[in-house]
Amino acid sequence: MSATPSLYTGSIRIIDVEDAHVAHNYHPLPVVIAKGEGVWVTDVEGKRYLDLLSAYSALNFGHGHPALLAAATEQLGRLTLTSRAYHNDRLGVFAAALAKLCGKDLVLPMNTGAEAVETGIKVARAWAYRVKGVTPDAATVVVANGNFHGRTTTIVGFSDDPQARDDFGPYAAGFVSVPFGDAAAIEAAITPDTAAVLLEPIQGEGGVVIPPVGYLRAVREICDRHNVLFIADEIQSGLGRVGETFACDREGVVPDLYLLGKALGGGILPVSAVVGNADVLGVIRPGEHGSTFGGNPLAAAVGLRVVEMLDTGEFQRRASALGEHLEAKLDELVGHGVTTVRIAGLWAGVDIDPAYGTGREIAEKLLARGVLVKDTHGQTIRIAPPLVIRATELDWAVEQLKLVLAD
Ligand SMILES: *Cc1c(COP(=O)(O)O)cnc(C)c1O
Repeated sequence: MSATPSLYTGSIRIIDVEDAHVAHNYHPLPVVIAKGEGVWVTDVEGKRYLDLLSAYSALNFGHGHPALLAAATEQLGRLTLTSRAYHNDRLGVFAAALAKLCGKDLVLPMNTGAEAVETGIKVARAWAYRVKGVTPDAATVVVANGNFHGRTTTIVGFSDDPQARDDFGPYAAGFVSVPFGDAAAIEAAITPDTAAVLLEPIQGEGGVVIPPVGYLRAVREICDRHNVLFIADEIQSGLGRVGETFACDREGVVPDLYLLGKALGGGILPVSAVVGNADVLGVIRPGEHGSTFGGNPLAAAVGLRVVEMLDTGEFQRRASALGEHLEAKLDELVGHGVTTVRIAGLWAGVDIDPAYGTGREIAEKLLARGVLVKDTHGQTIRIAPPLVIRATELDWAVEQLKLVLAD
């Protein structure tokens, strides 16, 4: 054996090598994962952990779901990439299934979530000029304070998180930010030049912030009244996480455009999409927008299987029932190290009492006990396990949190 492999033995060395050669755009918890199955991952030393983050909901179906692996493996051996210069035999089938799941006609396939958001913004602007008749280059998009829509230069320009935004200007014009959960503030921000309202129905990175009941319905109604598009960023909230297919379903609301990503790739590869009707998404003409990898046959094969799995309703039902179970368990911790619990389906934001430590400290202590979570905004930990988790596993995880807080 050469000397090189020694560099890669032991998690400390692996972390050192990563630190030396990977730009420090993240601050990972000190665990080196080598294997995953369902809700469990194993580190390089053989220690097992329950994954309560699911790669920010990209792993809604867990690690290595057999049906998704089968779809990917079959497609890997047949055809992986054509570019959109040609047709491939998977994209149309995937798009038809995804459009049907969304109750819409058209799908514009991309790869990452940020690309879906950028695409949604472009579509909204083109619609504003070509359909609504907004003055050229004057279109605006209303967004919400505390938003997270990705990391491109345009998107970070309308973030109010200094870590995401500072030192990356100049920022793109045409965005107006209003308080999240306040429908009247949206209406007040709308002018004749407004193309769209872009919102997360539940703010994920913000700490699982759930707007007041009726907010999404009010936004829908305001958008209709002012001829403005409602774009729902369901990249993290959608595809079963909240106990429904989409978080908008909680209020029976249908946006003009769904932005999807994360779980759409089955935890295997990045797959994102904008889904809407022809009167909106149809404004994009050949040559105006695209992506080399968007709509590739491997992504389409995996995405199709994801849609088929969601069509059964099983994952939505699991998220709903297990979410109620989790809520009851977490509520018992309020006043014992936890100040607030916000929960929708199997997606919880748990605010830690500062007297018990920061979110990061709690996440590190949970790690030592075999539970993976991620802190956000200082005092919050986010719990978003794969939807295939069992109630007994949730109980065990909450017990570990209870023990950490009792320390
Ligand atoms: C993660 C996320 C994005 C960005 O997705 P990437 O695939 O990381 O580019 C956009 N919107 C929301 C709501 C997200 O949670």
